[in-house]
Amino acid sequence: MLKKSFLGLSNLRIEYELLAVKVPVPEKVMASKTVTLFHPINGNPNPTPAYQTGDRVKTGQKLALFADEPAYVIASVTGTISSISPYTGDFGKMYRAITIAIDDSEELDNPFDNQAASLEKAIDHLSFLPGNPPFSTLAEPETKIHTIVIAGVDTDLLIGTNQYIVSSALDDIKKGIAILKDISGVDRIVLVTAGESMQGYGHIGAEVKGLDTGYPSALPQLIMKDVLGEVVPAGQNCEDLGVCFISAEAVASIGKAFVDGRIPVHKILTLVTKDGTQQLIETTIGTPIRDIFEKYNVTVNEEDRVILGGPMRGSAVYSLDHPVLPDTDGIVILDRTDAAYASDYPCINCGDCVRACPARIQVHMLVRFLEAGQFEEAADNYDLLSCIECGLCSFVCVSRIPIYQYIKLAKYELDRAKASQETEATEAMEATDA
Ligand code: SF4
Ligand code: SF4
Repeated sequence: MLKKSFLGLSNLRIEYELLAVKVPVPEKVMASKTVTLFHPINGNPNPTPAYQTGDRVKTGQKLALFADEPAYVIASVTGTISSISPYTGDFGKMYRAITIAIDDSEELDNPFDNQAASLEKAIDHLSFLPGNPPFSTLAEPETKIHTIVIAGVDTDLLIGTNQYIVSSALDDIKKGIAILKDISGVDRIVLVTAGESMQGYGHIGAEVKGLDTGYPSALPQLIMKDVLGEVVPAGQNCEDLGVCFISAEAVASIGKAFVDGRIPVHKILTLVTKDGTQQLIETTIGTPIRDIFEKYNVTVNEEDRVILGGPMRGSAVYSLDHPVLPDTDGIVILDRTDAAYASDYPCINCGDCVRACPARIQVHMLVRFLEAGQFEEAADNYDLLSCIECGLCSFVCVSRIPIYQYIKLAKYELDRAKASQETEATEAMEATDA
């Protein structure tokens, strides 16, 4: 989390940064020796992998590590698998980290079958695209999606990935929109762009709406309210109201995949260095952060903070070997003197968090229950589930309480408890039926 001084702000009107009129060209930064891909594990934590170290893979090859699970990754380079090891992500989510040593020459896997687009084909081959398209939401039978919102703006500050894609890849987006309509059966597609950049997007097959440029207007719940005129009730999400969000990068990648017959494996992201300089980068999915820092002579000292995502909502990572993921839109490095470290100070009831909160939550009360691990009480009595996860409360907190992180943990734990109760109820019903 940033201190206020990093952005030079004197009040809480924080503006998203708009891309310059002259669209910058991203610099290419390719992985030097290896890439690492995080393959999710959803079921059995110790399944037997279908691939081993020493196996050769080609660029664009689908690597489904476990025969009995649908999860997969797409090889972003040609090379040899040098290791497959367990990796635990945020909140204990399990992965296998597949590291591939890059060959000198590239071989492309068989072309992706770009004829006769279908949702099944997209789920089977395009789920690892840059931007992480939410195909499973579109395929969920209980979720009746009637509107797809394309985010042509980035949700966090200082990040320009999706603005860049909208400015530079309109033909791919147009093709992606046509394919999305075709495979999902959803007719209403809305492209949201930064307020001042609505010109020139006619005939792309979507309604185009402008957004206010004040943070956090690009978060889905606020787009629902301000652009679509619908309020997402506490405890529900946009999908519950029939609206699916997808990034502009994901839509452009879908269009490109079907036009080229190749699965895109390069990601656009924004690097924000210690002095606040922003650099748009195109890199291979799986590239270690270290390679990007080396290219820009970024030195990382003890207690500096490296954040994947943006400064308000991103997550700190603790190894420079951490790879760029399909949804890594930004990498921010903060000098230790700019990073606000969590402290042991108690809440002093200043009320800054309450004034900052766009969801009008009594955050100073909520935080007491979160600190005590009383998540259900926090949800029942202090509006935990109304939180839209903007991070403003943590940003303003003089006691440096990591409120945003507490909120994310609490929501995760409540979801986990709910899922486990549902599984137990289903098993009990099945036992009764038998
Ligand atoms: S993150 Fe904090 S400020 Fe933002 S909506 Fe949630 S409680 Fe309010
Ligand atoms: S900003 Fe921090 S110290 Fe102030 S009331 Fe909120 S939680 Fe307490």
